[in-house]
Amino acid sequence: MTMGTMTTSKKKPVLGACPECDANVAFTKTPFLGQKKNCPECLSELEVIGLSPIELDWAYDYSGFDGEDDYDAEDY
Ligand SMILES: [Zn+2]
Repeated sequence: MTMGTMTTSKKKPVLGACPECDANVAFTKTPFLGQKKNCPECLSELEVIGLSPIELDWAYDYSGFDGEDDYDAEDY
């Protein structure tokens, strides 16, 4: 078995920096804009906001972003 050429054909992992703790966040595949990823260090939920270079920002929970204004939240 020869596995000597294995490393050369592999792409390098794509690294981004966590905005929270500055840790390296590695992507095994090329990330896409808006991709969510958790920081391996501080477990912040991050989102890809730039691709060259990789930029990461906190991912915010947009669930119910539209139309949840009439949710009865003010009387707590
Ligand atoms: Zn982090």
